[in-house]
Amino acid sequence: MPEQQKILVTRSSMPSFEEYCEEIRDLWDTRWLTNSGAKHERLKAEIAQYLNVPHADLFVNGHNALECVIEALELGKDGRTEVITTPFTFISTTNAIVRKGLTPVFCDVKENDYTLDPAKIEALITPKTCAIVPVHVYGNVCDVDAIAAIAKKYNLKVIYDAAHAFGVRVNGEGVASFGDASMFSLHATKVFHSIEGGLVAHDSDELSVRLSQWRNYGITSTETADYVGGNLKMNEFAAAMGLCNLRHLEGEIVKRKVVCERYWDALEQLPGVKVCRPAEGIQSNYAYLPVVFDPQVFGATRDDVCDALAANNIFARKYFYPLTSDFACYGGAFDSSLTPVAKRLAGQVLTLPLYADLSLEDVDRICSIVSQVGKAC
Ligand SMILES: *Cc1c(COP(=O)(O)O)cnc(C)c1O
Repeated sequence: MPEQQKILVTRSSMPSFEEYCEEIRDLWDTRWLTNSGAKHERLKAEIAQYLNVPHADLFVNGHNALECVIEALELGKDGRTEVITTPFTFISTTNAIVRKGLTPVFCDVKENDYTLDPAKIEALITPKTCAIVPVHVYGNVCDVDAIAAIAKKYNLKVIYDAAHAFGVRVNGEGVASFGDASMFSLHATKVFHSIEGGLVAHDSDELSVRLSQWRNYGITSTETADYVGGNLKMNEFAAAMGLCNLRHLEGEIVKRKVVCERYWDALEQLPGVKVCRPAEGIQSNYAYLPVVFDPQVFGATRDDVCDALAANNIFARKYFYPLTSDFACYGGAFDSSLTPVAKRLAGQVLTLPLYADLSLEDVDRICSIVSQVGKAC
């Protein structure tokens, strides 16, 4: 058999070399390379329009965007320091909360779409709760109405980690219109990216000013600094990549959809295998391909599937395993058995390779390997 090329879980989309060069050409004239340059401003406006939100404040990456919005909303300042969130996410979500001096309180997720289970939130609310940080995990949209109702009842802020959800629409409405703010990651592995980058989408003029100050060392005018901020600015070369990629985003999403449907049609046939099709009314961005294996029914474990694929030079990822609450860096402060659905999912989920240019032949080959693992064990 000929040596087969490695297939990784994702492959960054890129414009043509010529298109990017054309986009950055004038930087050699202007010599304005960062600090809210022309490309930064244009990307900000184009993203705000695309997401249909008043503000899309750009950052060096998604993680720092999340930390910055926590700072700018002054979470914790009134003595309320607990944040209800999900452990079934990328470590960034939990780290942002902890690094800003807040305490994550982990709530379990829903069986069907792996997002925060609103029915389990209220039991976790205490007088110290200040916010909810839910995650639109894999681009699956949280139960935004139920979360909004709880937040209103208990006077809590809601910050969505929408890192996976750029371009997702809910009954025609952009996913960025929920909560007090939504963080999007523009990391190279995301559906839409600026190499490294991130943004906070929201509708508050005041928050926008604060974010821009917090993002730039807390400087509020040439001779004043009101906050102890860091440097979280997006540069012009990153913004140029974002401008190019935004032109091609709709086409990328259409190609991803074809790949996803090929996977779903094949994998759904297998006993003990669950795929995650977009819910009713959701226009997906087809960001990830999570598959959940029930070993009792499937006959093999998630790890068996992952190993069999790796033996064929196909590299799936155990997203999300372990739960963030189980990471050693938190020193055993959390008990993941209190989020049993998330715990079980983390042991059964595998995210399969997905990108716009993944060939349908490769998808068929991956599905066939998965199917053989189930039969063989
Ligand atoms: C990618 C990601 C982040 C962090 O974004 P960066 O741009 O990589 O800093 C945060 N949360 C989730 C769920 C992510 O997938």
